[in-house]
Amino acid sequence: MSAGGEFLVLQRSQAVRDSDWLCRTLYDLWDRYFSDTPRVNIVRIGFGRAWKNRLGSICLSDDQSTSYISINSLLRYPEVPDYVPLVTVAHEMVHYAHGFGSPLPRRYRHPHRGGIVRREIVRRGMAREYEQYDAWICAHWYDFYHARTRRL
Ligand SMILES: [Zn+2]
Repeated sequence: MSAGGEFLVLQRSQAVRDSDWLCRTLYDLWDRYFSDTPRVNIVRIGFGRAWKNRLGSICLSDDQSTSYISINSLLRYPEVPDYVPLVTVAHEMVHYAHGFGSPLPRRYRHPHRGGIVRREIVRRGMAREYEQYDAWICAHWYDFYHARTRRL
C-alpha cells in the first residue's frame, strides 16, 4: 500500500487548482452570470472524490442552512482545461438556482430532464465555454480518468 500512497502524494503535488481556486471561481461565476440568483444560505465548495461518471454534485444540509458543492478531484490537474471545472461549477449553480440542493423554490420536477442545465448555462452567456467543455469531455474524459487513476 505504501507505493500506492506515494503515487497519490505525487499526483496531489501536480494539482494546479485547489479549494481557493474553486471558491474564487464560484464567486466570480455568481457575479458574472448568476447575479439574479439570491444567495439564501451558506454555500461551501470543495473537491470531492475522483468519480468516474460524475463531475460534481450539490446537496443541502437537513436544516437547509448550508449547500455543499463537491467537484470531482480529478479536475485539479493541468491536463484538464479551465473551462471544464468552470462549466462544472456553473452546472451545480444552475441546480442551486433551480432549487435543487438549495432552499430556493424548486422550478422543475427533475434536475436534468429536457436538457435544462445546458439550456440555462447557454442562456446565461456561457455557450462557448459549454461547447468547449462538452467537446473535451467527449474526446478525453475516459482516457484521462484511466490514466490518472491507474495503480502502478
Ligand atoms: Zn447535475
